[in-house]
Amino acid sequence: MPIIDLRSDTVTKPTDEMRAAMARAEVGDDVYGEDPTVNQLQELAAERTGKAAALFVPSGHMGNLAAFLAHCQRGDEIILGNLSHPFNSETGSLAAVGGIQPFTLPNQPDGTLRLEDLQAAIRDDDVHHAVTRLISLENTHNRCNGVPLTAEYTRAVAELAHARGLKLHIDGARLFNAAVALGVPAATLVADADSVTFCLSKGLCAPVGSVLCGDEDFIYRARRARKQLGGGMRQAGILAAAGILSLTQMVDRLAEDHARAARLAEGLMEFRDFVVPAPHTNIVRFRMAEGSQVDPQALTAALAGEGVLLDYGNYEGFRAVTHHGVEDADIESTLAAVARHL
Ligand SMILES: *Cc1c(COP(=O)(O)O)cnc(C)c1O
Repeated sequence: MPIIDLRSDTVTKPTDEMRAAMARAEVGDDVYGEDPTVNQLQELAAERTGKAAALFVPSGHMGNLAAFLAHCQRGDEIILGNLSHPFNSETGSLAAVGGIQPFTLPNQPDGTLRLEDLQAAIRDDDVHHAVTRLISLENTHNRCNGVPLTAEYTRAVAELAHARGLKLHIDGARLFNAAVALGVPAATLVADADSVTFCLSKGLCAPVGSVLCGDEDFIYRARRARKQLGGGMRQAGILAAAGILSLTQMVDRLAEDHARAARLAEGLMEFRDFVVPAPHTNIVRFRMAEGSQVDPQALTAALAGEGVLLDYGNYEGFRAVTHHGVEDADIESTLAAVARHL
């Protein structure tokens, strides 16, 4: 049975070119800074994000956590969205490992945090207070329907943060989806941020890895944090070789994923059982319409029985993510399968 796996873009497999590049990658011990392929990936990532330096990390989660540890001391506070990935899907690691307190603000439907909410959340210097150290934004915003944040918004938050002595981090797991959707370079989207992490292992198809970028001092501290987290890797150039191709070959094609997501949403909107907001990038989120008699869990299971895999959560509703392994015909097959089971 052919499988159409729309659960996530993390299910993408390395391309044949990636496997070939991995097989012949020049490697060294990256804990000594001696893996030439890792160094090449880091230079490329720094260039693409417009930062001075970069650090290859095993996951987006570790990239965020290493950034938080590099920016903050124990007892400090980070302001982030209530729908953000670090707050919801990273095992509470910023608190558990970093001793850092999250201060959450409501994410607006467009993925932003209101500037007035941010201003009000930054604590005054007072012996009672935690020290507000960092604002963390997410671009694209996973739970907010994959919406991209604009360069203008990010600049406004950076100005606000810097005026109050804070730093700004961008969880850019899908930063290149944002860049493609908005038609601006990734570096422009994060120009005013102090740090940014992005995933190679999602729509960009690498098997493993993310990159954290920032200035030299920050990356020095982040390297130490990565080591503290047990994330120092040795001949990691095998993995970095795939990541280089992610950045040089896989970015522009994200537009195809966005077009397929739009087509999927358009098809789903025709079923009266669903409420389907128009997608912005490669993430289609939809939920049952009020009054629908369809049981979403049973529908998800029935579709899985036919090889169409969707993500469903009681809180988040349905999520379908398009990626390199999903073709135009798969979108039509998915819609046909849904029609059979409604
Ligand atoms: C996937 C994701 C991460 C974490 O990446 P992993 O590599 O899975 O650890 C962080 N932030 C967002 C918004 C994500 O979607």
